Amino acid sequence: MARTKPKTIRQLSASVINKIAAGEVIERPASVVKELLENSVDAGASQIELAIENGGIDLIRVTDDGCGIPQEQLTLAVTSHATSKIIDADDLFQVGTFGFRGEALASIAEVSQMVIRSRTEDQDCGFEMVINGGNREVEQPCGCPVGTSMEVRQLFYNTPVRQKFLRTPQTEKGHITEAFTRVALANPDIKMTLLNNNKVVHQLPATDSWRDRIGAFFGPEISDNLISINSSHEQVGLSGFVIDPSVSRANNRMQYLFLNGRYIRDRSLQHALSEAYRGLLMVGRFPVCFLRLDMPFEMVDVNVHPAKLEVRFQNGGQIYSQLLGAIRNRFLTTDLTAKGHLSRRQVEPFRPFPGNGQAPAEPTSQVSQNQISFQSEKPSYDWTQAPRQPFAAPQTAVAGHSNSASALMTAEPATVSTHGMPSASPTTGNAEFDTQYAGAQPGEAENPSQTPTALQVFNTYLINETEEGMVIIDQHALHERIIYEQIREKVLEGQLESQKMLVPEPVTLPPAEAAIVLENAETLRRIGIGVEPFGGDTVLVSSYPAMLTNHNPAEMLRGVIEKLMSDGSTLDQRDLVDELLHMISCKAAIKAGDKLTPEEITALLEHRDLCQDAHHCPHGRPTSLVFSRDELDKKFKRI
Ligand code: ADP
Ligand code: MG
Repeated sequence: MARTKPKTIRQLSASVINKIAAGEVIERPASVVKELLENSVDAGASQIELAIENGGIDLIRVTDDGCGIPQEQLTLAVTSHATSKIIDADDLFQVGTFGFRGEALASIAEVSQMVIRSRTEDQDCGFEMVINGGNREVEQPCGCPVGTSMEVRQLFYNTPVRQKFLRTPQTEKGHITEAFTRVALANPDIKMTLLNNNKVVHQLPATDSWRDRIGAFFGPEISDNLISINSSHEQVGLSGFVIDPSVSRANNRMQYLFLNGRYIRDRSLQHALSEAYRGLLMVGRFPVCFLRLDMPFEMVDVNVHPAKLEVRFQNGGQIYSQLLGAIRNRFLTTDLTAKGHLSRRQVEPFRPFPGNGQAPAEPTSQVSQNQISFQSEKPSYDWTQAPRQPFAAPQTAVAGHSNSASALMTAEPATVSTHGMPSASPTTGNAEFDTQYAGAQPGEAENPSQTPTALQVFNTYLINETEEGMVIIDQHALHERIIYEQIREKVLEGQLESQKMLVPEPVTLPPAEAAIVLENAETLRRIGIGVEPFGGDTVLVSSYPAMLTNHNPAEMLRGVIEKLMSDGSTLDQRDLVDELLHMISCKAAIKAGDKLTPEEITALLEHRDLCQDAHHCPHGRPTSLVFSRDELDKKFKRI
């Protein structure tokens, strides 16, 4: 590159300095909204109204009933680096207001046509100042109530570069709404109104219930599923809500975190949040939260980001653990069963005689009503040793009856309701199991502890009555969870039983895959898979988890490789082992479509009770849905 001649260094004019500063602080209409709303909060307002037109490009007006700006200070208010909020540099380390740099109003005034009207309590009338592109044009008394109104028109009219970057009014309005939401969520005690093109979008009364304010924005889907969080440790208070894992989002935008009332984004805390939900949400889904952190101002530096969206904690590690711990503990004491809401959408209107004019084939038999009693001690069955064994039991008595359970849900009620066979011991096979359930009337079943505890339908789901209501369990998802928890515990204790193979199995792989397997030999050893080099691109599988002996080692290894190739470089050891355990549990679990014996069903249900989280499979899908008695009664119009 050719050298250019040295240029003369010049002091920039105040106007250019302000435009540069404006570039940093005022990126789009929503930035103006954020600054103005925060000023109103800082002014102690109890009511704030935001009005916008054309996505804020034509007009942004914020009106508050705060302390107002004394007439003689109006000029200073729009001068850069003039603020009433801090005095010296030490104050920077204990900032208790949103603003402190004194540059927002100066920046906004520089790139718009602005009218400020303000009146303090001890002034008889208000005072108005008109500023165009940074030039003060009119200063005169005006009539106005105590408080301040800031009107910003034609934003960026004198900075074409910025103007070019503006998106559609619709998009800008979206950003503004988000800015409004953040301030409104942080300050439920302030009455807040949002008007778009003179129409009311939000009218939020002041409230001392955070739940109400959250509900006003996000509706009952969110506000009915809030789980409260409260913790306090070494001067750091954490309070607010996380959401039942049955509600999640495809991105992390609904993670509202407020630090001393200021909305912040913090990667580390977002990570803590996803850690807390590990195994509860499907891959690619994000938790929703509304959390407030409160701590002494000097424990955090808020002066590290132009829009103050990010902050620096003095003790980030402690806050990370506190957040993670508080949520985890709360989950341990919360029933997280996915609620099987029978939404209006899902329920077809009743059509009495469809198609051929005949009465619809409604199932007439009823599932046994006997209450299921769970054993509280650990069942004698050890799933880690031979998880599939009970499922491999010969199914001799199946013929002719095996579909009667699913028939309950389909169109042949006569065949299931008329069997009327005496209930037999569940240990003798499927036929008895099916017929017993098909024919049993409420209360008819004998000793509950001996009867099968659920009905299998579609060879995929188990239907069960518990205190919560009618529970529908996904047999694969639940079994996967059980295996996952059991082998994870063993892996963590370093006790996963591994069997040396009598004849090690050679598996020939593409070079990259062979390499990655050997590189990760130690990780694989932790989950019970022993691998050794065998020359060329062949790897010997020499030992294998005892619990997986009826699975093909080569096939399992390929599954492992897939995981290593896709996630091996991005995940840390613990996450990788966890991913591998997910995969192994998935492969080892009974599948949808597997017919289960009554003992198998009973064993599954007993283990369900022992799971730390029986409600989600390791991938975060629900293992069960619950329909409460009330919900069913309502839907059937009984109540
Ligand atoms: P900062 O908020 O960082 O102090 P600003 O440029 O946003 O800087 O505001 C400058 C000053 O103007 C504030 O310090 C405050 O004294 C005054 N001010 C701004 N908005 C309001 C308002 N809505 N009500 C009362 N005073 C205000
Ligand atoms: Mg400010």
